Amino acid sequence: MYDNIGNKIKTLAKISTWIGIVFALILGIALIVLLGAFIGLLVMFGVILIVWITSFPLYALGEITTTLSDIERNTRPNLANGAETPKKKKIFSPAPIAPADGSTPQIVCPKCGTQHDFDYPKCPKCKYEYNWAK
Ligand SMILES: [Zn+2]
Repeated sequence: MYDNIGNKIKTLAKISTWIGIVFALILGIALIVLLGAFIGLLVMFGVILIVWITSFPLYALGEITTTLSDIERNTRPNLANGAETPKKKKIFSPAPIAPADGSTPQIVCPKCGTQHDFDYPKCPKCKYEYNWAK
């Protein structure tokens, strides 16, 4: 219901501004008919100006909210977009040990202690999941 609230606030600001402008036009036309062109136009443009200006803070709030959501989404990709549940990640990933003979570098699994080739995404024995940046 309150998802994407920033855009909802901006839409609300736009809709209420347009409703206000339509109201001002109707009121202005009514006053032109009743009291003459000068007062009618003065009230019409006065109300439009007030409605327009008073919509600024609401629109700005929407703008700030959407900007903050974007920042949050970009800094916390797994948490903010809600599309995927955050995966529990192992923090510790050991540095590979390069053998002196030039063969495939080895790592030692921090969970079970098995030594294996560094390019496995998981430990072949206990399935410990490494967390290297891709
Ligand atoms: Zn292991």
